[in-house]
Amino acid sequence: MLEKLLAYLSGTHQQIAPVDARLWRQTLETTPLLAALGANEQTDLKTLTEQFLAEKRFFGGDDLEPNLEMAIRIAALACLPVLHLGYHWLSELHDLVIYPDAFLVHREERDEFGVVHEHYEPLSGEAWEHGTLVLSWPDVLEAGARCDGRNVVIHEIAHILDDRNGAFNGFPPLHKGMDPVQWTADFSDAFDSLNQQLTQGHRPLIDPYGATSPAEFFAVTSEYHFERPDLLQEAFPRVAMQLERFYGSWERV
Ligand SMILES: [Zn+2]
Repeated sequence: MLEKLLAYLSGTHQQIAPVDARLWRQTLETTPLLAALGANEQTDLKTLTEQFLAEKRFFGGDDLEPNLEMAIRIAALACLPVLHLGYHWLSELHDLVIYPDAFLVHREERDEFGVVHEHYEPLSGEAWEHGTLVLSWPDVLEAGARCDGRNVVIHEIAHILDDRNGAFNGFPPLHKGMDPVQWTADFSDAFDSLNQQLTQGHRPLIDPYGATSPAEFFAVTSEYHFERPDLLQEAFPRVAMQLERFYGSWERV
């Protein structure tokens, strides 16, 4: 099954060590999303990344051997959503499992006649309860590289943040001063609107996968918040405003 391959990253509460300078530079150079952060944010992100590398455990699936380059890239992308929220928002995330390609997940569904149908679904990422995140490496490489609104790491981290109130429902704990009623109204209206666009055969501005459920809508719009805020603003301005307040804003160069 899963093999633990990064012994030096395998325990919790390890000593925090400086991230390898060459690999950090390489991570920024190959990830325009991170390279676009201001100098102060990059310094803060590096600090969070070092903490993440010291505390979280990395495993490989399907004979993949995670290396330090992979761990740094994933850690940096995973810490971006909590740059302003604070590192403690990731406290429930413990393990990361990296697959060499899209991984197959066994699904069972019961139809209206009570017959159970089994199938395997290829996934690029999945957040499990109890703090495990599963990622396909090729999708991680694309995350933050093209800035097209698709970012599997931010997507799965959004699920982790969402789950902090005990359920994957698109409703993370809100900050003081944020109105939960307004949040729910803004997200519900946008979610309904996306579903309506799809029903009417229109091509939406954002990934239609967001129409699957309120949890997926929060995760997908979070991807756009970081990668294509312009598109999110155009598609759902009230959601864009809520996410700006939730994630905080920072300087970009
Ligand atoms: Zn999802």
